[in-house]
Amino acid sequence: MAESIGEFVGAILCRFMFGAICKKLADDKGYSGSSWFWWGFFFNVLALLVIILKKRLTPPPVRVNNISALEEYKRLLDSGVITPEEFERKKAELLNSNAPVYTYYTPPQYNNGGVGNGKKWVCPECGNVNPPGIWVCESCGREK
Ligand SMILES: [Zn+2]
Repeated sequence: MAESIGEFVGAILCRFMFGAICKKLADDKGYSGSSWFWWGFFFNVLALLVIILKKRLTPPPVRVNNISALEEYKRLLDSGVITPEEFERKKAELLNSNAPVYTYYTPPQYNNGGVGNGKKWVCPECGNVNPPGIWVCESCGREK
Protein backbone atom coordinates (compact mmCIF):
# COMPACT_ATOMS: atom_id res chain seq x y z
CA MET A 1 0.00 0.00 0.00
CA ALA A 2 2.72 2.44 1.07
CA GLU A 3 4.65 1.59 -2.08
CA SER A 4 1.75 2.37 -4.38
CA ILE A 5 1.21 5.70 -2.60
CA GLY A 6 4.90 6.47 -3.14
CA GLU A 7 4.56 5.62 -6.80
CA PHE A 8 1.45 7.74 -7.09
CA VAL A 9 3.17 10.74 -5.47
CA GLY A 10 6.22 10.22 -7.68
CA ALA A 11 4.08 10.15 -10.80
CA ILE A 12 2.27 13.34 -9.75
CA LEU A 13 5.59 15.09 -9.04
CA CYS A 14 6.89 13.99 -12.41
CA ARG A 15 3.77 15.42 -14.08
CA PHE A 16 4.18 18.69 -12.21
CA MET A 17 7.76 18.84 -13.40
CA PHE A 18 6.72 18.42 -17.03
CA GLY A 19 3.99 21.00 -16.47
CA ALA A 20 6.46 23.49 -15.04
CA ILE A 21 8.96 22.99 -17.87
CA CYS A 22 6.22 23.37 -20.51
CA LYS A 23 4.95 26.51 -18.76
CA LYS A 24 8.43 28.04 -18.74
CA LEU A 25 9.02 27.28 -22.42
CA ALA A 26 5.53 28.50 -23.36
CA ASP A 27 6.01 31.76 -21.46
CA ASP A 28 9.36 32.29 -23.16
CA LYS A 29 7.82 31.75 -26.57
CA GLY A 30 4.80 33.95 -25.96
CA TYR A 31 2.22 31.21 -25.46
CA SER A 32 -0.11 30.84 -22.50
CA GLY A 33 2.00 29.41 -19.69
CA SER A 34 -0.98 28.34 -17.59
CA SER A 35 -2.53 26.31 -20.42
CA TRP A 36 0.80 24.74 -21.26
CA PHE A 37 1.29 23.75 -17.67
CA TRP A 38 -1.72 21.45 -18.03
CA TRP A 39 -0.62 20.16 -21.45
CA GLY A 40 2.66 19.21 -19.81
CA PHE A 41 0.88 17.77 -16.81
CA PHE A 42 -1.29 15.42 -18.86
CA PHE A 43 0.87 14.65 -21.89
CA ASN A 44 4.35 14.88 -20.38
CA VAL A 45 7.08 14.22 -22.97
CA LEU A 46 4.66 14.64 -25.86
CA ALA A 47 3.62 18.13 -24.74
CA LEU A 48 7.25 19.01 -24.08
CA LEU A 49 8.22 18.05 -27.63
CA VAL A 50 5.33 20.04 -29.09
CA ILE A 51 6.20 23.22 -27.20
CA ILE A 52 9.90 22.83 -28.03
CA LEU A 53 9.03 22.58 -31.73
CA LYS A 54 6.59 25.48 -31.69
CA LYS A 55 7.74 28.78 -33.15
CA ARG A 56 8.28 31.77 -30.92
CA LEU A 57 5.22 34.02 -31.11
CA THR A 58 6.73 37.34 -30.20
CA PRO A 59 10.23 38.62 -30.92
CA PRO A 60 12.53 38.73 -27.91
CA PRO A 61 11.84 41.92 -25.97
CA VAL A 62 15.51 42.91 -25.93
CA ARG A 63 15.40 43.44 -29.68
CA VAL A 64 12.97 46.29 -29.09
CA ASN A 65 15.40 47.83 -26.64
CA ASN A 66 18.17 47.59 -29.18
CA ILE A 67 16.09 49.34 -31.81
CA SER A 68 15.16 52.08 -29.36
CA ALA A 69 18.79 52.41 -28.47
CA LEU A 70 19.71 52.62 -32.12
CA GLU A 71 17.21 55.44 -32.67
CA GLU A 72 18.70 57.22 -29.70
CA TYR A 73 22.22 56.83 -31.15
CA LYS A 74 21.01 58.25 -34.43
CA ARG A 75 19.67 61.27 -32.58
CA LEU A 76 22.99 61.66 -30.77
CA LEU A 77 24.84 61.41 -34.07
CA ASP A 78 22.63 64.08 -35.60
CA SER A 79 23.16 66.41 -32.67
CA GLY A 80 26.91 65.83 -32.81
CA VAL A 81 27.27 64.18 -29.42
CA ILE A 82 28.85 61.07 -30.94
CA THR A 83 30.97 60.66 -34.07
CA PRO A 84 29.87 58.71 -37.18
CA GLU A 85 32.50 56.07 -36.31
CA GLU A 86 31.05 55.63 -32.84
CA PHE A 87 27.60 55.40 -34.35
CA GLU A 88 28.61 52.73 -36.85
CA ARG A 89 30.35 50.71 -34.17
CA LYS A 90 27.31 50.84 -31.90
CA LYS A 91 24.99 50.09 -34.78
CA ALA A 92 26.87 46.93 -35.69
CA GLU A 93 26.95 45.94 -32.04
CA LEU A 94 23.22 46.49 -31.58
CA LEU A 95 22.15 44.74 -34.75
CA ASN A 96 24.38 41.74 -34.19
CA SER A 97 23.57 41.16 -30.58
CA ASN A 98 20.57 39.86 -28.75
CA ALA A 99 21.92 41.24 -25.52
CA PRO A 100 20.41 44.56 -24.58
CA VAL A 101 22.87 47.41 -24.96
CA TYR A 102 21.78 50.41 -23.01
CA THR A 103 24.77 52.70 -23.27
CA TYR A 104 23.77 56.08 -24.70
CA TYR A 105 20.16 55.01 -24.74
CA THR A 106 17.99 57.56 -23.00
CA PRO A 107 14.46 56.65 -22.05
CA PRO A 108 12.02 59.58 -22.39
CA GLN A 109 11.97 60.36 -18.67
CA TYR A 110 15.70 61.12 -18.79
CA ASN A 111 15.59 63.48 -21.70
CA ASN A 112 15.81 66.58 -19.55
CA GLY A 113 19.32 67.04 -18.27
CA GLY A 114 20.58 63.62 -19.34
CA VAL A 115 21.83 63.71 -22.88
CA GLY A 116 23.37 66.88 -24.13
CA ASN A 117 23.97 68.86 -20.95
CA GLY A 118 27.65 68.77 -21.81
CA LYS A 119 28.93 67.71 -18.41
CA LYS A 120 30.95 64.68 -17.44
CA TRP A 121 29.52 62.84 -14.49
CA VAL A 122 30.93 60.55 -11.87
CA CYS A 123 29.20 57.25 -11.24
CA PRO A 124 28.04 57.06 -7.63
CA GLU A 125 28.43 53.28 -7.74
CA CYS A 126 31.97 52.74 -9.02
CA GLY A 127 33.44 56.23 -9.39
CA ASN A 128 33.98 55.93 -13.14
CA VAL A 129 33.98 59.31 -14.91
CA ASN A 130 31.46 59.07 -17.73
CA PRO A 131 31.26 61.33 -20.76
CA PRO A 132 28.26 63.58 -21.23
CA GLY A 133 25.51 62.15 -23.36
CA ILE A 134 25.15 58.79 -21.67
CA TRP A 135 22.92 58.04 -18.77
CA VAL A 136 24.22 54.60 -17.87
CA CYS A 137 27.70 54.17 -16.39
CA GLU A 138 30.09 52.80 -18.98
CA SER A 139 31.89 50.79 -16.36
CA CYS A 140 29.21 49.19 -14.20
CA GLY A 141 25.95 49.95 -15.97
CA ARG A 142 24.37 51.91 -13.13
CA GLU A 143 21.84 54.54 -14.15
CA LYS A 144 22.86 58.15 -13.78
ZN1 LIG B 1 29.69 52.85 -12.48
